This record gives sequence, structure tokens and C-alpha cells, in this order.
Amino acid sequence: MKLRNCMEEYVGRYVDGVMSEVGMCCCDKCRYDVMAIALNNLPPQYTVTNEGALFNKVKAMDNHFRMHIIAEITKAAEIVNRDAKHYEKEEK
Ligand SMILES: [Zn+2]
Repeated sequence: MKLRNCMEEYVGRYVDGVMSEVGMCCCDKCRYDVMAIALNNLPPQYTVTNEGALFNKVKAMDNHFRMHIIAEITKAAEIVNRDAKHYEKEEK
């Protein structure tokens, strides 16, 4: 058994699509930055589960909930796209 935050699965599922739509840098740093901001703004969905049960839960997610998650990822992507902190680090 595992303790998992299902919200991480949900955000991980949609983050790549949102980032490519925004047309921003899609490196690991930006991806994790977007996920961190989105996850801080979304309610955690902790559950005790095994992998199979988690997968079923992800599939059962309703449309309104999914749109809410995508909206938060989009906001986070716009914040990261504006800041893009990693560029400064790479240039020094
Ligand atoms: Zn990047």
C-alpha cells in the first residue's frame, strides 16, 4: 500500500499539453516549476492505494474537476513562462 497525492498524477497528466499550448520552454526545470506552482494552488487529494486503484481513480475524474486542474496548470505555466529563472542560472 502507498500514500499518494492523486493531484500529482492529475497535474502530471495534463502539464505537457498545457505547456506546449502556451508555447513555452518545456525543459525539466520549467516542467517541475509549473507542477509545483499548480500543486500549491490545488487541493491535495491524498489516498491510500495501490497503483491499480490509483489508475482507476484517475480515469474516473469528472470533467469539471479536470477543467479546474487545467486552468491552474495554465496559470502556473504563464507564471513560469514569464520568469524563466533557469535561463539566468545557465548564463553565468
Ligand atoms: Zn526551461
